Amino acid sequence: MKSIAIYCGSSLGNDPKIVADAAELGKKLAEENITVIYGGARIGIMGTVANTALKHEGKVIGVIPEFLKRKEVVHTELTELHTTETMVERKMKMIDMAEGFIALPGGFGTLEELFEVITALQLAQMEHPVAILNSNGYYDQLIAMMQTMMQKELLKPKNFDMLIIETDIQILLERMRNFVPKTTPKWLKTN
Ligand code: AMP
Repeated sequence: MKSIAIYCGSSLGNDPKIVADAAELGKKLAEENITVIYGGARIGIMGTVANTALKHEGKVIGVIPEFLKRKEVVHTELTELHTTETMVERKMKMIDMAEGFIALPGGFGTLEELFEVITALQLAQMEHPVAILNSNGYYDQLIAMMQTMMQKELLKPKNFDMLIIETDIQILLERMRNFVPKTTPKWLKTN
């Protein structure tokens, strides 16, 4: 994996452990020579990941729509900054450039981006690993919801199993490296 897209909050939140994990991830990606692809903001958890990666001489590519440059306070010291017209173009560009995806804690925007790549993986439209860094149990209730979805047989366990969920960054990256995509689209199977 030469590049990973990071989905995370444009706000900083109020949990120091989450911010510390975001910083640790930025540092680790820089040390492992993995380019960070992210939303291009200087603020929030997004900014924390980018700044720590840059501080450790990592490469960071931001992708931001023109209209959000002020609201999300665009980062001006990135390795590369791509400007798009729309949110949809931003997401597509990030997906095109990344060889893996990690969601850190965030809000609606983060969840939207995360579920877009999970469903692309489920439909075999995309073959890169998708991971959740469950920092300080932030996503426990979301994972519990996925258990309910499986109990009600609306989510297939094999699709859930493709999602990498970890609290430890090193283990998460190791699992991403070893990820083997499923190759058969679901509509070709009989069960
Ligand atoms: P949030 O998790 O809500 O703080 O948002 C995290 C990032 O996702 C921010 O950079 C948002 O601009 C971005 N975002 C929110 N909604 C969308 C969307 N529909 N498409 C692409 N990016 C989005």
